[in-house]
Amino acid sequence: MKILIVEDDEFTARMLQNVLTRQNYNVEVAVDGEAGRELVEAFDYDLVLIDYVLPKLDGVSLCRQLRSQGYQMPIVLLTGRDSSHDKANGLDAGADDYIVKPFEPEELVARIRALLRRGSATVMPVLEWGDLKLDPSACTVTYSDRPLNLTPKEYSLLEVFLRNQHRVFSCSALIDHIWSYKKTPGEEAVRTQIKGLRQKLKTAGADRDAIETVYGIGYRLKPLLHNQSEESENDLASQDSDRQIHNSIQQQTQLGISEIWGRFRSRVAEQVGIIENAVAKLEVPPQEVNADLLSAAVAESHTLTGSLATFGFSHGSVLSRQIEQILREQIACKNIEVKHLRSLVADLRQEISREPAKEGGLVTHLSHLFQAKDDRPLLLVIDRDRQLTKNLTAESSSWGIRVDSATSLAIAKDKIYHQVPNAVLLDLSVSDSTAESLALLGELSQRIPPLPVLVFSNRDNLAERLEVARLGGRTFLRKPTPPAQVLDTVTQILKRMESSTARVLAVDDDPKVLAILRTLLEPWGLNLTTLSDPQQFWETLEAYIPDMLILDVEMPHLTGIELCQIVRNDSRWSSLPIIFLTAHTDPQIVNTVFAMGADDFVSKPIVGPELVTRIVNRLDRIKLLKRMAEIDPLTKVYNRHKSTQTLDENLHLAQRNQQPVCFAILDLDCFKQVNDLYGHATGDLVLCYVGQLLNRSLRSEDTIARWGGEEFVVGMYGMGKHEGVERLNAILSTLREENFTAPDGRQFYVTFSAGVSQYPEDGGDLQALYCAADIALYKAKSAGRDRVFPTENEVTQLNLANIASMPSTVS
Ligand code: GH3
Ligand code: MG
Ligand code: MG
Repeated sequence: MKILIVEDDEFTARMLQNVLTRQNYNVEVAVDGEAGRELVEAFDYDLVLIDYVLPKLDGVSLCRQLRSQGYQMPIVLLTGRDSSHDKANGLDAGADDYIVKPFEPEELVARIRALLRRGSATVMPVLEWGDLKLDPSACTVTYSDRPLNLTPKEYSLLEVFLRNQHRVFSCSALIDHIWSYKKTPGEEAVRTQIKGLRQKLKTAGADRDAIETVYGIGYRLKPLLHNQSEESENDLASQDSDRQIHNSIQQQTQLGISEIWGRFRSRVAEQVGIIENAVAKLEVPPQEVNADLLSAAVAESHTLTGSLATFGFSHGSVLSRQIEQILREQIACKNIEVKHLRSLVADLRQEISREPAKEGGLVTHLSHLFQAKDDRPLLLVIDRDRQLTKNLTAESSSWGIRVDSATSLAIAKDKIYHQVPNAVLLDLSVSDSTAESLALLGELSQRIPPLPVLVFSNRDNLAERLEVARLGGRTFLRKPTPPAQVLDTVTQILKRMESSTARVLAVDDDPKVLAILRTLLEPWGLNLTTLSDPQQFWETLEAYIPDMLILDVEMPHLTGIELCQIVRNDSRWSSLPIIFLTAHTDPQIVNTVFAMGADDFVSKPIVGPELVTRIVNRLDRIKLLKRMAEIDPLTKVYNRHKSTQTLDENLHLAQRNQQPVCFAILDLDCFKQVNDLYGHATGDLVLCYVGQLLNRSLRSEDTIARWGGEEFVVGMYGMGKHEGVERLNAILSTLREENFTAPDGRQFYVTFSAGVSQYPEDGGDLQALYCAADIALYKAKSAGRDRVFPTENEVTQLNLANIASMPSTVS
């Protein structure tokens, strides 16, 4: 279990870390809100503890941001204040619980445990694999009731495997789960730990190979041999929420695949027909088969090799592969044995006429997954008040939202079952039993991908809010709120959820494979676009701008390898991650694919969990890399590239909302002297300090960046230059008083000069604002440095109060 603490007070952070580490939790600390958010975006945490007051991004905003991005892990707020206003605020923002400082370590641990087992049975389940038992509440591991003495890392590894019994973990996935990001070790470290764990399992008498190596991918828990009855499996599942979710995804996938089979079976029959046709021609003298007919048969058997096993016809895949090989030999003018070929084809025909006897009865319920749909997001209003629904519906078309309504919980459940909405607006009093409404809320919030629920109520009682928050309700709206504001809130939540999903483009000429990918990837909240005609590749790529590409190797007109080459040759796309999917196992093709710049390679038939693991892991790393490309490593503020983007966005927003933007350039005074006198390393420390000082002193929505050397820029939205000058002067006085010490003990002080301009008076774009501020900076330097100058063309002070303020942000 991995826990993130976001706490700027070093003492509290240490204390928490100490208490939680002793409970065998894996603990990481972030010292400000933004760092916390970045860590959550880059790594998986099981729970996050957030301090209320934090630099850069306060705890409540952080919590709200995480929830609006769809993160579901429990969040606990730490607050120094015991006021119910603060608590309600925190819960509204999506926290599950709050703890008032100073706290008792025992209570803290108990609450964390309670949250971690949320949604599962009343006691934290003991994880089992045969006679091996891991008790997360006691942090003990036994084999046949004999205790195993594991190191914390070995314990965590075992826990990860036991909690995800069907999943294959790559070394990097294990590193993400178990090591803190600061100490990210090499893959060798994982191997060493696995070796240690296996050794201890062996010594205890357990199967040494309990942790299996999956060649080329990583490790997993060996599947238990004895077949558990359906019923006992269900029992286990109900004890373990992780596994429940996993099972439901697997089930969903299975059903989706059966459904696709229903749609494609006649196409598959046609494919086999083409092969039969070619083989029939081979049998009749003078055995001259049209070359086109043969190559068509080869192509069809190749596609079938790739897709049949995915539908549960693994024997069909084997047969197709053999048929493909024999046909290729025929093309190469070898004398093949037609009789054998014919019997293979007959077997194949028989194989596909079989029913993939799975949970067929449920299949129809999932058909909505594949129906063409109205693209507008759907809001389900669960409320007895018909007038309210009517008003919302009337307003909805101008927001591009569809509204559906349910006047009771039963109707709501039925509607959700048939079509999952994009968001739900729920009045808890729709049922006479609040507990029942809350139960639905809990159920919806646990879905994958998360279904945002907004609670709409005319009651405002803290206990109810706490319960709503604990169950995962994202937003609490008080009645009466005007329909436009409700829909605005819904729109904002939907927009944030969409922007946080990764975009994947999959290209495969076989529509079956594309349909399967959709089934596999959409439950994970990935936004997928599929393309079956590689000739439209470039337009689609440019229009969709994916975060990742999945390519088939063999396609008509343009092969995946050629596409990969084209992408890699274009500098804009050269770092786009590419995963190949293919039925080929030929090592030469695998080598070619990697040589062309592929990042990964997954063989068909597609094994769902493996593909999902690979994609999700890779996307995690991309997010991290993206973040690293935006931050200046020395000063930890934005770099020029990123800040230019943000500042441009701010200027657009300001234009729309008629707001001012204050722009400033800061340049350290006589900084060359600092380097000359005390060394470059000391100079770097000063730069680093100034970056932190700016981060600490300005608002989280301000843009702070290093544009090179010892020059920083700051953008402050909604602020005029005079207020900006005041703020920078305050920062300058702090810096002026900071006493720096060189390695040789000499002490010195540092100051900066700054020029400040204002949008729109000093310029309509970033470049004009920069030039104006630079002139002011130059004047500040000439006037003796250590001062902040605004541009000189006096502007009338904008009366902010008179400007229509922006729509208030969602709470
Ligand atoms: P002024 O008050 O006129 O700005 O004087 P200055 O010395 O700061 O101006 P100038 O632009 O001539 O010099 C900038 C110096 O900043 C040059 C270089 O030694 C130092 N510098 C630039 N980047 C870095 C860096 O990354 N680390 C360190 N330690 N010094 C840097
Ligand atoms: Mg300077
Ligand atoms: Mg300079």
